Amino acid sequence: MTVPFIDLAAQQERLQPNIDNAIKRVLEHGGFIMGPEVAQFEKELASFCGAKHALGCANGTDALQLALMALGVEAGDAVFVPAFTFAATAEVVPLVGASVVFVDVDERTFNMDPQSLKRAIALAKDEGLRPFCIIPVDLFGLSADYDALIAIARENGMKVIGDSAQGFAAIYKGRRTGSLCDVTTTSFFPAKPLGCYGDGGAVFTDDAELAALIDSYRVHGKGTDKYSNDRVGINSRLDTIQAAILLEKLSIYAEEIEARQRVAKRYSEALSERFATPYVPEGYVSVWAQYTLTMENAEERDRVKAAAQAAGVPTMIYYPSPLHKLKAYAGALADPQGLSMSETLPGRVLSLPMHPYLEAEVQDRIIRVLLNA
Ligand SMILES: *Cc1c(COP(=O)(O)O)cnc(C)c1O
Repeated sequence: MTVPFIDLAAQQERLQPNIDNAIKRVLEHGGFIMGPEVAQFEKELASFCGAKHALGCANGTDALQLALMALGVEAGDAVFVPAFTFAATAEVVPLVGASVVFVDVDERTFNMDPQSLKRAIALAKDEGLRPFCIIPVDLFGLSADYDALIAIARENGMKVIGDSAQGFAAIYKGRRTGSLCDVTTTSFFPAKPLGCYGDGGAVFTDDAELAALIDSYRVHGKGTDKYSNDRVGINSRLDTIQAAILLEKLSIYAEEIEARQRVAKRYSEALSERFATPYVPEGYVSVWAQYTLTMENAEERDRVKAAAQAAGVPTMIYYPSPLHKLKAYAGALADPQGLSMSETLPGRVLSLPMHPYLEAEVQDRIIRVLLNA
């Protein structure tokens, strides 16, 4: 028997009649673009995380681009991103004409390292760039250390965009991601903690002016109406059908976050003697987009991965390369002391099957396979 890495079918089975009805209602009213479910979902999404405004868009990558556009990024601006993340975090920066500067990550949280950020800012200034904003990532579902990072950003006159594609509504010191930064973005790609049945994303802010700009940029830079274009924008809306599906999924999201805690706890209790299990600092609650072990070295990681594979247990390597080693980002600036953690983690990490419907017996089988590997 092979275990699924993420079991979307279990959730679908649970929500099936509600989702069928939700889709049927959209087919009946026919408002496929910006229909009533979009506004309703945006309202519930904002209230879920404690943000004043949530705006749906086509995917999590566009959400980042819309955030940069609304903040007014320009050529010659430096945008600081972690080197150990999904490519989308960095990709949007050259797309809007700005310069990526890579920052290293912390070994235990996998998130942006404040000391490395300071060094990267000094370098960017020396290179004649204007420090514009930082984009910390809530990697694997754990919030970045926003107090430390926002303080450094403010000292340098910078804005903060939280990339919470993997961490939507994770808790940082009593508050949920979505409400912590100038702008926060998320993705509803099906495998994310809150996923839809296609592509989708959202942008969050407490600033009404920024929200109005994001609303304009996502519809071709619209002015008072759709055919009076005040600025050059893009076409990036959340489909009404996806919003209708997401309303159903959001209604069980809090419960699913709880279930993910149980699964993560069971893994950690059973595996922590043998492996370095994920570190969750005091005051944080992860939404566990991934449950990721850190091994001593690549030989051990590859051996464990192969043994799991042979026993029908799928594991994944997020991410096999730091971004600065990829061809697309080869010329980018980086922390002058190097990005050593971002360079060694790809050889050491191993993500295990993780979803809210992972049953204890199945999980125990996975655990046995790993302990025997
Ligand atoms: C998935 C992801 C994105 C992009 O989201 P899409 O909806 O796939 O465009 C951005 N950043 C991170 C960290 C992600 O994991």
